[in-house]
Amino acid sequence: MNIKIEHKITGYEVKKADDTSSNEDAKVHQIAPLLERDDILEGSTYKIKTPHSEHAMYITINDVIIEEPDGSTHRRPFEVFINSKNMEHFMWIVALTRITSAIFRKGGDVTFLVEELKAVFDPRGGYYKRGGKYMPSIVAEIGEVIQQHLISIGMMEGQLNSAELVAKRHEAQEKLGSDAIAKGNQCDKCGAMAVVRLDNCNCCLECGDSKCG
Ligand SMILES: [Zn+2]
Repeated sequence: MNIKIEHKITGYEVKKADDTSSNEDAKVHQIAPLLERDDILEGSTYKIKTPHSEHAMYITINDVIIEEPDGSTHRRPFEVFINSKNMEHFMWIVALTRITSAIFRKGGDVTFLVEELKAVFDPRGGYYKRGGKYMPSIVAEIGEVIQQHLISIGMMEGQLNSAELVAKRHEAQEKLGSDAIAKGNQCDKCGAMAVVRLDNCNCCLECGDSKCG
């Protein structure tokens, strides 16, 4: 509410928060409270080791347990911390963890974060993780860690581990071999460098997206 002040201010009084006498028409929109933090939270710590740095990065995601009115409970992420001896990325990592934690605490669907982060490319080029999987950037790998966590607490479908996809990976391993898999093309859907030609179809071994013909 704006009030134009047309006279010289000669005095003021402080209104109490519960004083609504002068403001009866103003509608109060209550903003849903942010998730509250218990003193002790359970979480998981994930280690990321990239060829770009000699130091590993440790990503800790803490959860809160939400109690539903019907007595059932579910976990959801509350905050994320990233630690590393490597100070090169310190500034943007602090920014990323603060923004990510703020989104976690807002509640609601947070799974969109995973796709946003996984789509980030490092202009210097990505790297291969141990096991041959291509990562377009450290940010993308942080996105994958968050995805892994959300899957583990049941907030995201375990698409990465569906039986069909596991079978496709085995098939690709047998028919094409590791070298061909490591040279996969980029997937339109998930951005992973994991598209291989399998049975006349271009198939992404990361998300399962498949185009035949
Ligand atoms: Zn894909």
